[in-house]
Amino acid sequence: MTTMNSTPPRESPLGPQDLDEAAAVLSDLRDRLRAEIADARKTESAVRGDCVLDAADAGATTLAIEELHTRADAATALLERTLAALTRIQDGTFGTCATCGAPIGRERVLAVPHAERCVACTERQSRA
Ligand SMILES: [Zn+2]
Repeated sequence: MTTMNSTPPRESPLGPQDLDEAAAVLSDLRDRLRAEIADARKTESAVRGDCVLDAADAGATTLAIEELHTRADAATALLERTLAALTRIQDGTFGTCATCGAPIGRERVLAVPHAERCVACTERQSRA
């Protein structure tokens, strides 16, 4: 015989609505990042495919490709964090700091849903 306990589990200060909102933002971000990465790759192959006639052009092409790589790398890194956050929503650890295990804080998590750490841990890490 189990007694019904109406107190919800307290791992996360986030309500189901907060999680839905974060999941929607993250899914949207994921789709945008995937499109951006695909676009950067497409642009890169177009740039590479261009006939390079002189050294100045070659330099400009190299620069353009580097820029595309930087953009694609940043998008890929953010995409990984976004996917990890979506996984955390599914396994119920969303909103918890990956370093100290403390709640990240509702406002921060909704503003930056792919945040992995609380403000204190993020600051400590960026100073390290
Ligand atoms: Zn922390």
